[in-house]
Amino acid sequence: MSRNVISQLEQCLSPESLALAQKAGTLAAEKRLGIYLVGGVVRDTLLGRANSDLDLVVEGSAIGLAEVLAGDLGGRLVVHRRFGTAKIRTGNLVIDLAMARAESYARPGALPTVRPGSIQDDLARRDFTVNAMALRLDPGSFGKLVDPFNGQQDLESNLIRILHNQSFIDDATRMLRAVRYVQRFGFRLEASTENLLRQNVSMLGTISGDRIRHELELILKEGCPEKVLKRAEELGLLREVHPALKGDGWLQKKFEKAREVASSPSPALCFALLTYRFSEPECEDFVASLKMPGTVSRVIRDTARLRERMPSLDAPDLPPSGVYGLLQEYSPTSILACAIAAESALVQERLNLYLTRWRHVRTALDGDALQKLGIPSGPRLGEMLKALQDAKLDGKISSQEDETELVQRWLSQGR
Ligand code: ATP
Ligand code: MG
Repeated sequence: MSRNVISQLEQCLSPESLALAQKAGTLAAEKRLGIYLVGGVVRDTLLGRANSDLDLVVEGSAIGLAEVLAGDLGGRLVVHRRFGTAKIRTGNLVIDLAMARAESYARPGALPTVRPGSIQDDLARRDFTVNAMALRLDPGSFGKLVDPFNGQQDLESNLIRILHNQSFIDDATRMLRAVRYVQRFGFRLEASTENLLRQNVSMLGTISGDRIRHELELILKEGCPEKVLKRAEELGLLREVHPALKGDGWLQKKFEKAREVASSPSPALCFALLTYRFSEPECEDFVASLKMPGTVSRVIRDTARLRERMPSLDAPDLPPSGVYGLLQEYSPTSILACAIAAESALVQERLNLYLTRWRHVRTALDGDALQKLGIPSGPRLGEMLKALQDAKLDGKISSQEDETELVQRWLSQGR
């Protein structure tokens, strides 16, 4: 039985999004093109969750329709002819339009070959039943649910279910997607989906490093990534991503702490915590196999190196200037990762003080000022500036007068 979910749509979409969906529906109907709202926004609407993504599928030229719609709305249009897709930006809204496609996989893990198709074809290539629903947007049937795989029923039963037995083989990233949705919605894997997933974990090996990394990044954006990782570990998926990865209690504590420190921890910080217990070769292997971008690689490497300095940072009589000297070459994110991961309270405190205070300490006198006090430019000037900064870090001086006095004392001592 197909439902009409206009009232839920009205609750979950903003008035602007709703008006836009209606406009798109009217324009498509004039061109006799089928048009549908698809994917996550349909699922979330049925769950009563807000979702601002407007993903539209058009039976026919999505680009042609997007041109008309963008003209009508006065929005900015970007088209990708090769994929038959278009994006319109208007005000705060982004609308994605894609041509309905049928697809086939030449080999496992390859990107699919696509051709124009119907909405049924387009839904049949999707990952899970709960993501394979559409809502009609044509004015005559606006809000009517298209649900060929009984996604609605699975939503009500809290189940993540693939559409066919070959699904994880065609595209093994779906295994990581499955655990992400299970965790996000508090759902379960449907029994035969779970069996097929367990049987096919090794298919993750068919997926490029970039695509696996992208899925990991999506997991790290979830509210509680550690729970997704724990489930991925139980299912044998995590070790396929990398053999040294763990989704255990240690990680859970550290991710919770990261969220206390930064309400939404950056991907680099999460990756640094994920790899904190790796050996250096494991870090290198992880960075290379997942094609980590330069900034994240640097944080991972810095964290691994800084971890080796923990004993020095734990020395009882190390002054702030000593901490500063040890830490200044490391990226702040790696220092934060170590502050979260360190066992020693003293080390944690020092790392935090460095991040919040010591690294910002600047002397009032600069090179020019020292020259005016009679110190010629050269290595000695640099050493004096450093000595001044150390004195300031260690609380031996605070004001500009203190600095001037100290420099004059040094000069009188022939330093
Ligand atoms: P989210 O709230 O996480 O964004 P979403 O359902 O919108 O959820 P997207 O990753 O934005 O997920 O993808 C949009 C839609 O594209 C999905 O709902 C799903 O139908 C389809 N999709 C995405 N990735 C795959 C995949 N690997 N295989 C099949 N279908 C996919
Ligand atoms: Mg989405």
